[in-house]
Amino acid sequence: MSDARAPIEADDLTPSQRELQARAKAFVRDVLVPREVEFELAGGRVPREWAMPIRRAAIEAHLHGGSLPREVGGQGWSVLEQVLVHEQFGASTGGLWSFVPGGYEVLKHGTAAQRRRYLEPSLRGERSGSYAITEPGAGSDARSIVATAVRDAAAGDYVLDGEKWFVTGTDDTDFMIVHVNVIDGDRRLPTLFLVDYDAPGLRQIADPDHMHTFADRHPRFVLEGVRAGADAIIGGVGEADELTNEWFVEERIHIGARCSGAMERLLAEAVAFATERVQFGQRIYDFQGVSFPIADSAADAAAARLLTRACARLADAGVDPKLLHAKASIAKLFASEAAFRCADRVVQVFGGRGYLRETAAERFFRELRVDRIWEGTSEIQRLIIARALEKRGVDRVLG
Ligand SMILES: Cc1cc2nc3c(=O)[nH]c(=O)nc-3n(C[C@H](O)[C@H](O)[C@H](O)COP(=O)(O)OP(=O)(O)OC[C@H]3O[C@@H](n4cnc5c(N)ncnc54)[C@H](O)[C@@H]3O)c2cc1C
Repeated sequence: MSDARAPIEADDLTPSQRELQARAKAFVRDVLVPREVEFELAGGRVPREWAMPIRRAAIEAHLHGGSLPREVGGQGWSVLEQVLVHEQFGASTGGLWSFVPGGYEVLKHGTAAQRRRYLEPSLRGERSGSYAITEPGAGSDARSIVATAVRDAAAGDYVLDGEKWFVTGTDDTDFMIVHVNVIDGDRRLPTLFLVDYDAPGLRQIADPDHMHTFADRHPRFVLEGVRAGADAIIGGVGEADELTNEWFVEERIHIGARCSGAMERLLAEAVAFATERVQFGQRIYDFQGVSFPIADSAADAAAARLLTRACARLADAGVDPKLLHAKASIAKLFASEAAFRCADRVVQVFGGRGYLRETAAERFFRELRVDRIWEGTSEIQRLIIARALEKRGVDRVLG
């Protein structure tokens, strides 16, 4: 006879995947969650040393650099394994998982010298990078960026100029991957450069506060005559769009996973509270006005998890990248919209307590909002999905 209490997905995951999932869960439970409220009440402005125990614990648990191949010092996880870990990361507030050492996946395309200078110290938790695409005039339409790199033949390097917004990274971030156009006659060739924050001509012009209290800040920078050699280019001149698209797809799948994890935490907190809290002489969970929104949230959470994991399995199976692009958009769109609905419902379940910053639902309500905006807004995900339905066919997009 089968064990009715066995996890539904037990057969889907290998023993090593389950071990990884359990390791990430323990890290989030023991290292991140206990520090959430302190971080929130400090407004997220903590000294560098505050995050060091998180970095060390992540390295000890081998949870750093998960999406990078082993050849460059990463953990070499499959996309499904990345999803299993990001589901756990998403169950913490404050984006504290962002302190886990790692590096943008594009760095695997770097030269050995670039990897030694940027990636290897990032994996040790000694350096940290940002990825700067957005500009004041170029957001959803990333192809309209105006930042430039002009070759100085005499000096044998490039001169970079532009302004970048929402340059996300922890407070101690010290280099950026910046997306600019190399000017070559009439041609504008989108290219990624690695630039150190202390490079002459690179200046932070603002560090505004945002809705969430998060491990990452999102400052604005100007580049004025920043000099960079050809050895600072990742992948080659004109390669930025392709490299960035690869990152977008990965990041959208990770967002889907983190939103799934957030929903699981929200549900656990909602059920625990509503089955204890008594009003009118009854557990509030026994009022359908309370339990039905929780049930709807469970349906949202389960659907988001299935979609995201299915997308990860397709990525691992090497499905057509154009189809994967649409699938990742479906997962990101659904999971981010569902997670926000779920946070709103759970704030309501908690009543006045749901409005307190000490309550995880309150923090999630602010934090999950951005998942509908960054890495392509929900409207941009809908555009990608609609185009794919027309070009690739409804059956392939859904199948
Ligand atoms: C907290 C945070 C962190 C971020 N981190 C980074 C980062 O690390 N690096 C980076 O490069 N960028 C980052 N961004 C920028 C983010 O990717 C952009 O904000 C996002 O792509 C939207 O661009 P925009 O803000 O210029 O809005 P706009 O593009 O001006 O859009 C405004 C509104 O118009 C809608 N819209 C635009 N075009 C269409 C269309 N064709 N059809 C329908 N609706 C449309 C949008 O959906 C949105 O609702 C971050 C943003 C935030 C808020």
